Amino acid sequence: MNVAALSPVASSAQPAIDPAAGARGLYIGGQWVRPVGRPSIPVVDPSTEALLAEVPDATLDDARAAIDAAAAAAAGWRATPPRRRSEILRRCFELMTARAEDLARLISLENGKALRDARGEVAYAAEFFRWNAEEAVRISGDFALSPAGGNHIIVDYEPIGICVLITPWNFPAAMATRKIAPALAAGCTVVLKPASETPLTAYVLAALYEEAGVPPGVVNVLTTSTPGPVTAAMLADSRVRKLSFTGSTPVGRTLLAEAAKNVISCSMELGGNAPLIVFDDADIEVALEGAMLAKMRNAGEACTAANRIYVQSGLYERFAAELTVCMTALKVGPGAETTTDCGPMITAKAVDKIERLVDDALGRGARLRCGGERPTGRGFFYPPTVLADVPTDAAIGCEEIFGPVAALSRFESEDEAVALANASEYGLAAYVFTRDLARGLRVSRRIDTGMVGLNRGLVSDPAAPFGGTKQSGLGREGGAHGVLEFLEAKYIATTL
Ligand code: NAP
Repeated sequence: MNVAALSPVASSAQPAIDPAAGARGLYIGGQWVRPVGRPSIPVVDPSTEALLAEVPDATLDDARAAIDAAAAAAAGWRATPPRRRSEILRRCFELMTARAEDLARLISLENGKALRDARGEVAYAAEFFRWNAEEAVRISGDFALSPAGGNHIIVDYEPIGICVLITPWNFPAAMATRKIAPALAAGCTVVLKPASETPLTAYVLAALYEEAGVPPGVVNVLTTSTPGPVTAAMLADSRVRKLSFTGSTPVGRTLLAEAAKNVISCSMELGGNAPLIVFDDADIEVALEGAMLAKMRNAGEACTAANRIYVQSGLYERFAAELTVCMTALKVGPGAETTTDCGPMITAKAVDKIERLVDDALGRGARLRCGGERPTGRGFFYPPTVLADVPTDAAIGCEEIFGPVAALSRFESEDEAVALANASEYGLAAYVFTRDLARGLRVSRRIDTGMVGLNRGLVSDPAAPFGGTKQSGLGREGGAHGVLEFLEAKYIATTL
C-alpha cells in the first residue's frame, strides 16, 4: 500500500495509516519480499498490548540479498548528479511533511509516545531530508600548493561506500532519517535495520522514499529477530564500508568489535546519562520548563533525557515542589489519544527496569514526592514520578532510567556541580540553568559531554552536530558534520 493512498488526517485516536502498510515485507532492491513459511516478528501496541502487525524475520540470505541490492545500485547513485540527489531528498522532505499527521499517528501507535511528541519527531525527522538536500550540492574538495612548493594537493570527498544503518525504537522515524538523508546526500547506498519493536514506520517511510524518486536498491530495509548474526554477516561482506549505529552502549561495543574485523568505519550514537544543573540564580520558570522538556519528552525515553537533576541548595525545595506539581499534572494514557502527555513505555521489561531503579533509590534514602507506583491493567505504563534527595550511590544516577522519573539531588558549589555532572561513563548531553551567562558558558565547557543545553531543555537540531563523548559514542550526526561521516577523503598529489 502506498502511503499516499491512506486516509486523510484522523481526528480521533484511530490510526490514519493501517499498520499493515508497514508490514508488506522486507524492502530489498525496490521489491517487497514476504518470505512464506517462515516465522515473523510481532509488533505490539504498548498502550494495549494488542498485536498491530507482523513483519518478516530476515535470515542471513536476506541480509546478503540486501547488500547485493545496495551494491548493484551503488555505481548509479554515486554517478547521479548532486543536484538530482538533492531534489530527491527535498521531495522526501516534502512528502513527509505532507503526511506528517499520518506518520505521527503510526509512530504513536507502535512506539506509544504521546501524539504531540510523535508530531515533533516527524517534523525533526523530515528536516534531515531538507538539510541534507541542501548539503548534497555543497560537498566541495580542497586544492592547495604544498608548503614546499613541489606539488599540488587535491582533496576530493567521495561516498564511503555501502552503509549498514541500525536504529533503536525510541525515535522510529528520526533515528533512521538522521542516517539515511546524509548517506544519500553523500552518494552512498544503505541497508537499514530498524528496531524490532517499531519497524512499521521504517517500512512505510521506505515506500515514501520510493515515491520521492529514490531508485531501487539505494535504500533497503530489513527486520530480524537475530540482529547479531544478521549484522555480522553484513559486516563480514567486504563491500560494506560503513556502520552507523544508534542504540545502547553495550550493543555499540559489540558492534565496534565486529566492525573491527573488516576495519569498517563506525559512527556510534550510544547511551546517555544527562545531568541537569539548576543554579540558585536560575530563572525558575525557565528551569522548570527546561527540566520538564528534558525529562518528559518521549516520556523520558530519550538518550538526551535528564537522568540526574542537581539543584543548588538555595532553590532546591522550591524547585522540587514546583516540579512535583508539573509532573503530577501530566495525563498518562495511550499515546495516540490527543490529550495524553505521557504514553506507555516500550515494553514490560522497560517498566521492570524503572521499577527496580526507583525501589533501589527509595531503599537508599530517596524521598518519593509523587508517582512511584506501577499501575495494574493492560499497557506498559509507569506514572510521572519525582524522587528527591537521591543519594549518589543510587543506581538511578548511573543507569539510564529511560522513563518518566525525575531524580533530584542538591549541591552547594559550582565545582561540586561540575564534579557530579562528570561522574559518569557517559557524555552525551547536559543541561545548565543560570542567569549568569559567563558561568553558564564556563560550566558548559567544563562538563565532558558532546552537547549542552544552556537555559534550554532541548538540544536536538538537524543543523547542529549531535553526538557524545566517552561511552556515549563516536562521530556526529546532523549539521555539516553529518554528511562527512559518509564521505572518504581522496588525496591526489600532483605536479602541475
Ligand atoms: P539496543 O538494544 O542497543 O538496540 C538498538 C538496535 O540495535 C536495535 O535495532 C536492535 O535490534 C539492534 N541490536 C541489538 N542487538 C544487536 C546486535 N547484537 N547486533 C546488531 N544489532 C543489534 O537499544 P534500544 O533499547 O533499542 O535503544 C535504547 C538505547 O539507544 C539507549 O541506550 C539510548 O540512550 C540509545 N539511543 C542513543 C541515541 C543517540 O543519539 N546517542 C539516540 C536514541 C537512543 P532489535 O530491536 O531487533 O533488538
